[in-house]
Amino acid sequence: MRSPYFTEAHEEFRTRVRAALAEAVAPNVDAWEAGDGVPREAWRELGARGLLGVALPRRAGGGEHDLLTSVVFLEELGRVGAGGVRAAISVHTHMATHYLAMDGDPVLDAECLAPAVRGERVAALAITEPGAGADLSGLAVTAEPDGGHYVVNGVKSMVSNGTVADFHVAAVRTAPDRGSGPHGTTGLSLLVIDADLPGVGVEPVRTLGWRAAGAATVTYDRVRVPASRLIGRVDSGFYRLMRGLVLERLVAAALALGGMEECLEDLRRFLVERQVSGRPPARLQAPAHRVADLATELAAARQLVHHSAWLHQEGELPGTESSMAKLYTTELACRLVETSLQLRGSAGYLESSPAARAHRDARAATIAAGPSEVMRDLIGRAVLRPPPGPAR
Ligand SMILES: Cc1cc2nc3c(=O)[nH]c(=O)nc-3n(C[C@H](O)[C@H](O)[C@H](O)COP(=O)(O)OP(=O)(O)OC[C@H]3O[C@@H](n4cnc5c(N)ncnc54)[C@H](O)[C@@H]3O)c2cc1C
Repeated sequence: MRSPYFTEAHEEFRTRVRAALAEAVAPNVDAWEAGDGVPREAWRELGARGLLGVALPRRAGGGEHDLLTSVVFLEELGRVGAGGVRAAISVHTHMATHYLAMDGDPVLDAECLAPAVRGERVAALAITEPGAGADLSGLAVTAEPDGGHYVVNGVKSMVSNGTVADFHVAAVRTAPDRGSGPHGTTGLSLLVIDADLPGVGVEPVRTLGWRAAGAATVTYDRVRVPASRLIGRVDSGFYRLMRGLVLERLVAAALALGGMEECLEDLRRFLVERQVSGRPPARLQAPAHRVADLATELAAARQLVHHSAWLHQEGELPGTESSMAKLYTTELACRLVETSLQLRGSAGYLESSPAARAHRDARAATIAAGPSEVMRDLIGRAVLRPPPGPAR
């Protein structure tokens, strides 16, 4: 479908990325899902092909492309058919490293960002904790200053890439919360923690879907982190996270879009090729109408995601639109994969069926990067905010 948001250069980039992912990722997805996730050599290959630095700055070897180029990349990544692979790569390319890209510290650029672009070091984002996820004011991992270092203590949970990451961009508490007010929680900072430091413990966790994402619980036990690993100013973490989470939601939405395109195409093939009582199910009204509804919703979702990304690219911070995009696409993906599984009959229920994997994976996306309920909360607050009154 032609779109006013994308130029010819974007479409050429799409063709190149699709071909590169078809070579470097798609043939390996099943093995990565069944094994230990995306292996080291694959990260290096993705780096060598320029696929890890699409959004990252030139000063670190990245492509520094606009956000709509990232949307193209993420949609194509979304089409590779495994939520865990999408999550692993996008956490690295667009979530954890985003905070380093925004800051421009020469040491962090040289030691973390540039090797991440080359695929030599893998990044994870460690925000969620056993006691707090959606509500950042509850974050309790502490980082106390101690002679040129921070001493970090506490536990992070559901860290994607946790099993393979070389460094974590972690949200840590550098001061107690002085009471969450209209400007959010205070006392949070972002710290880059090398995974091989003494006191870092990694425990893999098994998840329903996203099996290649390398989810882990990470423990910090008196980990001494050089103070130079702080991203930006101390206690500026909440501000940075609020901006980063808007991007994270757009990333989740673009990945979901790509996943849905692939899922719908897969379902279309099945409905056209399968024979039921001598004709393909595509000729029956019940499946045809369900597919028609989903294709219509997918077309609407595409516009919402692309418009939100365009707003972001134009310099706005589209908090409400990105929440709408994330909510709508990830919930639509659940409905689509449910229909895809159902319309295939028993073939869809086989463990090996792409529809079964898509079904498991889709559930994760309505929780990760902010649950649907939180998205509704944010959207509801924005929509129901009283109009600004006359100045008094
Ligand atoms: C597959 C997967 C991968 C993940 N990867 C990462 C990662 O790499 N790094 C990372 O830091 N985190 C990661 N997460 C964690 C994810 O970001 C959190 O699960 C999410 O933010 C919710 O936090 P929580 O799980 O602690 O739920 P809680 O905060 O305990 O919330 C539980 C439930 O309460 C409800 N709720 C909470 N707040 C509100 C509200 N304001 N309004 C209405 N209802 C509400 C929602 O239904 C929510 O699902 C991942 C999660 C999943 C499932």
